[in-house]
Amino acid sequence: MPDASAAKKTLPDAQTVTTVRHWTDSLFSFRVSRPASLRFRSGEFVMIGLPGDNGKPILRAYSIASPNWDDELEFYSIKVPDGPLTSRLQHIRPGDEIIMRPKPVGTLVLDALLPGRRLWFLATGTGIAPFASLMRDPETFERYDQVVMMHTCRTAEELTYGRELVENLAHDPLLGELYGADFAKRLLYYPTTTREESPLMGRITDNLVSGKVNADLNLPPISAETDRAMICGSLAFNQDVKKVLEDFGLREGANSEPREFVVEKAFVGDGI
Ligand SMILES: Cc1cc2nc3c(=O)[nH]c(=O)nc-3n(C[C@H](O)[C@H](O)[C@H](O)COP(=O)(O)OP(=O)(O)OC[C@H]3O[C@@H](n4cnc5c(N)ncnc54)[C@H](O)[C@@H]3O)c2cc1C
Repeated sequence: MPDASAAKKTLPDAQTVTTVRHWTDSLFSFRVSRPASLRFRSGEFVMIGLPGDNGKPILRAYSIASPNWDDELEFYSIKVPDGPLTSRLQHIRPGDEIIMRPKPVGTLVLDALLPGRRLWFLATGTGIAPFASLMRDPETFERYDQVVMMHTCRTAEELTYGRELVENLAHDPLLGELYGADFAKRLLYYPTTTREESPLMGRITDNLVSGKVNADLNLPPISAETDRAMICGSLAFNQDVKKVLEDFGLREGANSEPREFVVEKAFVGDGI
């Protein structure tokens, strides 16, 4: 395969698009070349964008959805109708260039949590992106015996990116070799819908408070001794889940002060 990172770049901080996949009318993912010098921790985000009409770039925060060992960078994106960036970004094709500022940051990193037995990833919509990175990082499974991926969308179709990723992980050369058939017990997947009928329905908060998810997955109740969590969704979702976790006795941490859970916005605004 040609080394896209070595191709001639026409924009400053440009990276070349290698693949694009459209999942629904409002969701797509794409991969770009990775600058050789870029180091990041799985779960972090960067600013990416396109040149604007006035020559000023339109940049937005994006979680890196690929793990830190990957040769390329993957992003999972919403298509906001009339959104300054995504109304155009959704039309990118392999060979196009995007801008990427190479300064990864973020709170959804393993170092921001105290050691524990079980790690919960709690996401709505594109909030699954940082967890797509962390689920593919063997370090996540070195640190925790079990990972629970709870992802909620309005419809089953909107869950497809995450579902396919989890299914493919069972055959992942790295994780498959490390954990073999045991991997199915290490990564538990709990997808739910809120608007469309599906085998599992309901909000993440309701499923946590009622203990339904624990009962369905045969897990003990959440406790500050054993459980750690990362939250990524709308502001309202983040606040609701944060309150639920605090009621279980977990405390919010940060890079500088690791505790039992961390939170990050999946976007600014109320959502669409
Ligand atoms: C830390 C952080 C990480 C982010 N990571 C991602 C990511 O991995 N993938 C991604 O698609 N977006 C992500 N976003 C949102 C992203 O920065 C942009 O807002 C999004 O790409 C839309 O850009 P826009 O210019 O088209 O519209 P904007 O003007 O930025 O947004 C218009 C409106 O659309 C809604 N909106 C924006 N993004 C989303 C979204 N992802 N899901 C639902 N509604 C949304 C909001 O109501 C917003 O007010 C992240 C935001 C933050 C703060």
